[in-house]
Amino acid sequence: MVERALIGILAVQGDVREHAAMLQRLGADVVEVRKREHLESLDGLVIPGGESTAIGRLIRLYGIEETLRGFERPVLGTCAGMILLARDALDGVPGQPLLGAADIVVRRNGYGRQVQSFEADLDMGGGPPLRGVFIRAPRVVHAGPDVEVLAELDGDPVLLRDGRVVVAAFHPELAGDPRVHELFLECVAEHRARRARTVG
Ligand code: GLN
Repeated sequence: MVERALIGILAVQGDVREHAAMLQRLGADVVEVRKREHLESLDGLVIPGGESTAIGRLIRLYGIEETLRGFERPVLGTCAGMILLARDALDGVPGQPLLGAADIVVRRNGYGRQVQSFEADLDMGGGPPLRGVFIRAPRVVHAGPDVEVLAELDGDPVLLRDGRVVVAAFHPELAGDPRVHELFLECVAEHRARRARTVG
């Protein structure tokens, strides 16, 4: 039997519970991450949406910024989580920590502020469209050559994969469609299989 994946959810601020529910529904074990030692045995990590400046301040305060930066397993970042994983964020707060795990540049609140939060059907290049809930979402203004675009909204990439890092500008945990979390868990399984091969 395949061992269940253990996924950490960064739980300093933001919508942790919805991610946990979705991952558990897909058969993963979930643990909330607030301390360095919580990151040790994880197969993957989710950085949820919320407020990237608050999350950034708190990871510094909790002393986990460097450990997060050194985390080498698959990561899913949604909305504020996408901002934190980016290489650069326009309209960011000076000194805001960015983990730089995905070769993308984003603009915070790039679709407008709270009133411009919206839902839209996203083209995943086949299959039924994916419902995206956008809440003060970041907009991707640049993606490096190795970054794969998995879904678009009006020509803008909104779901991307850079190796082991998956980022979504929207909130896949809110619309009830499990496909983004499934894709992330596939990435986790691939990574685990690769590790097992290297060790064995
Ligand atoms: N606008 C928020 C930020 O800049 C992100 C919003 C969200 O995660 N829903 O961090």
